Amino acid sequence: MKKFRIKTFGCQMNKDDSERIAGLLNGAGYVPTDADNDADVIIFNTCCVRRNADDRLYGQAAALKQLKAGQPDLVIAVGGCLAQMDGEAIQKKLPHVDLVFGTHNVARLPQLIDRAAGEKRSVCEVLAGSESFTSDLPGLRKHAWHAWLPITVGCDNYCTYCIVPYVRGREKSRPMEKLIDNCGSLVKDGVKEITLLGQNVNSYGRDLYGAPRFAELIAKVSAVDGLERVRFTTSHPKDLTADVIDTVAAGGNICPHFHLPLQSGSDRVLERMRRQYTSKNYLRIVEEIRDKVADVAITTDIMVGFPGETEKDFQGTLNVVRAAGFDQAFTFIYSQRPGTVAAKYEDRVTPAAAGERFARLIEEQNSHSLKNNRRLVGNKLPVFVEGRSKKDNYRLAGRTPSNKLVHIKGDDDLIGRTLDVEIREAFSWFLIGEAGDIA
Ligand code: SF4
Repeated sequence: MKKFRIKTFGCQMNKDDSERIAGLLNGAGYVPTDADNDADVIIFNTCCVRRNADDRLYGQAAALKQLKAGQPDLVIAVGGCLAQMDGEAIQKKLPHVDLVFGTHNVARLPQLIDRAAGEKRSVCEVLAGSESFTSDLPGLRKHAWHAWLPITVGCDNYCTYCIVPYVRGREKSRPMEKLIDNCGSLVKDGVKEITLLGQNVNSYGRDLYGAPRFAELIAKVSAVDGLERVRFTTSHPKDLTADVIDTVAAGGNICPHFHLPLQSGSDRVLERMRRQYTSKNYLRIVEEIRDKVADVAITTDIMVGFPGETEKDFQGTLNVVRAAGFDQAFTFIYSQRPGTVAAKYEDRVTPAAAGERFARLIEEQNSHSLKNNRRLVGNKLPVFVEGRSKKDNYRLAGRTPSNKLVHIKGDDDLIGRTLDVEIREAFSWFLIGEAGDIA
């Protein structure tokens, strides 16, 4: 039996695409493997949002040159957003790669692999668009209990730093009835938790129904019989409406967690990023969420060193971080992406200044994460056990409804179950708890 190995970079959308790729290859008779030298096909599912994702691909793919020399029948394929953006340029930089395929070509992957293997030459197929959704393809889930469910693909926002709308296309929503049916089938198949995915989940349905219907969608998904948890990401602050907050506030199996990218706390920078909200609007939404949703966690993405960002702008970001008291922030240094509007801005921030702001931002945010986590010590929380901890193999790792990572001692038979866990210790990025009864 032939074997495949997939290496996934980037966001949850790519993780879902990788599960579809795995499903397609499984249907074509392949089985997964975790070792490069055991694989007949190695697929890189790439990301192009930041420069370091490009570097990771080129570094890891170049390292396979020797393996390919010893195993000439090995097929090395590169797909995902970077393949969509760079196409043949990847073949030129990595001549030992057999196949480059775009984000709209996933459905044809088994045939493309056969073609690359049969023709003994490098194949490149990158379609500009497609009417079908990759997420409609059969998937092979990484975890039996969890499913990603893309509700939209693409994005219409064109933030000036972001390449996503150019590689994933305009926003397209999947019909609501189909999504609800899909959820029912997933639950029958053993799924306990579904994460609704989109670049901007709050605008779900605008293209299909003339107005966003995300609140209605999460309410309907949450009503699917047998589903334990519903999550969603990412929320664009400009489109997050009161009806969505109210639906989450109603509780039940909808998890009280909002990932609400801030990017910058300076209105001048936000305008240049074309984010379409101000720091005041952003904080008003945070306040409304905290007022209405019990035990909620709010996480965010923040970028430093965007072109033209001054120390005063950065102070604006720190002020919003202090006022919002985020539970966690994913922090980045601006990465120039060719083809975007911001790539033409000439007032670059020096790497030294960006690095120094980055360190100060992390220090500030860590103190808020720790403060929020310490408030949970002594509480009993329902923790869904996801697997062994990546950092400490002696412990299990699970999540609270608000998506806090909790480490507990326990045996593998607890994986996939929800436990009552008493929180004993808090750190900035995780909690340690003591497992009690199965909830
Ligand atoms: S909302 Fe902005 S940052 Fe997010 S995917 Fe769309 S263009 Fe990119």
